[in-house]
Amino acid sequence: METIKPLLLLIEDDPQFRLLLSTTLESRDYRVLTAASGRDGLDAARHRQPSLLILDLGLPDIDGQQVIRHLRSCSELPIIVLSARDRESDITQALDNGADDYLTKPFSTAELMSRIKALLRRVAKLPGGGAQESFQVDELKIELTRRRVFVGEREVHLTPIEFRLLSVLVRNAGFVVTHRQLLKKVWGASYVEHSHYLRIYMGQLRHKIEADPARPRYLLTEAGVGYRLNTGEN
Ligand code: CA
Repeated sequence: METIKPLLLLIEDDPQFRLLLSTTLESRDYRVLTAASGRDGLDAARHRQPSLLILDLGLPDIDGQQVIRHLRSCSELPIIVLSARDRESDITQALDNGADDYLTKPFSTAELMSRIKALLRRVAKLPGGGAQESFQVDELKIELTRRRVFVGEREVHLTPIEFRLLSVLVRNAGFVVTHRQLLKKVWGASYVEHSHYLRIYMGQLRHKIEADPARPRYLLTEAGVGYRLNTGEN
């Protein structure tokens, strides 16, 4: 059976980078639709129904953040944002606006491919997939419904807050979750500015789960942005 190649939408104003990226993606079995501005990109997203959007945040007409907000008001289209390395606050804002993942320029083709694959896989799992019961990577095993956590044979006892924090990361395994999103989901909307809670509890969690808490293998820090639970795939 012949499978239809997924259609990706790339919104990027830099013509050289746009060409390079679309050529690369097409050589990896994707169909690519390109747009050089936010408005053209939104049009394409509406009319061509791509499977995934790769969005440069710095656009000439409307801001990339606005593109995300527009799309999120009417669609679940998976979004990977591209940003310059020194623009952490842009990345955080993009994720808080509803982008799913990000890459900082320059990035490797391998990195981009693994993010696209992971995101398409996650979307494919969603309809009717039901809640994920358990998660395992290397030695770490988490049973969400039974609320039990193991490292190898050893059961780890977590406080309710620690468990909640870990389960938010498990539900987004492989994807970055921003400080704000974690604070909101674990402590509530009025706590989004209290990032010290997060630091303290993440420290505790690492002490219980990681062999070397200073060099975490599972609970990865995305500097200035948030945390990501390592799925061992990247
Ligand atoms: Ca740009």
